[in-house]
Amino acid sequence: MFFDILTIFEDFFDSSLKNQNCGVISKAICSGILQVAVRNLRDYTHDRHRTTDDRPFGGGAGMVMKPEPLCNALDEIKLEAQRALAPEPLVVLLSPRGVTFNQKLACELANFEHICLICGRYEGVDERVRELYVDFELSIGDYVLSGGEAAALVVVDAVGRLCKGVLGCESSSKEESFSQEHLLLEHPHYTRPRHFRGLNVPEVLLSGDHARIQKWRREEALKLTAIKRPELLEQAQLTEEDMAFLGKIR
Ligand code: SAM
Repeated sequence: MFFDILTIFEDFFDSSLKNQNCGVISKAICSGILQVAVRNLRDYTHDRHRTTDDRPFGGGAGMVMKPEPLCNALDEIKLEAQRALAPEPLVVLLSPRGVTFNQKLACELANFEHICLICGRYEGVDERVRELYVDFELSIGDYVLSGGEAAALVVVDAVGRLCKGVLGCESSSKEESFSQEHLLLEHPHYTRPRHFRGLNVPEVLLSGDHARIQKWRREEALKLTAIKRPELLEQAQLTEEDMAFLGKIR
């Protein structure tokens, strides 16, 4: 899978994506399973000052990202894809007004071979970039960041880890919170030591009884979801046993 990131702050991505010691995503990039090209928008300007922003028409506070550098970069990316006989990239504008990112969307995005993420800054991006190039506007939540770079990292991480070969164990992403097969919050985890500051690991997890452990995990997931995110239960596929358990704890 290939991500292109368009930014005016390419250094933002150095430690998290280029340093092999920063977890599964950076490892997958170093080993070539994931490819990430961070493009500096200033390289797509033609003036002496390498200008990427300008004052807003109509007045008001802040600056707006100019359309030319972004569109030049997107033209180059599309041309490169054509020359390589590769599919057109999906062009995603990171924006607080976009569709809110979630695990379902991450799974859908993981089906694309090439995603291009546009990181806005200042007041945002000239609207004509969206009209001309953007397939999809994506928000990572109902708050305003100072730039799209942190949002791009979130997307690369959440989508990248769903790509084949990135996680050591493919089932990890299938069984965790919000996964399509699960749609519940995940059960709690414990590791050694068995006793820690007066708290013990639940006995069932030490029993070696796989069926009992599975039942406990399912019930803990149901309980956590009912307490913390009850709305998720409406879409989860619940068995009669699940319903009976929820009936008991409610
Ligand atoms: N003026 C814009 C508004 O009120 O909606 C906010 C612009 S914000 C300061 C600058 C850039 O950060 C945006 O263009 C976008 O790329 C990015 N950004 C901010 N919040 C975001 C969010 N919740 N999700 C994704 N990107 C975000």
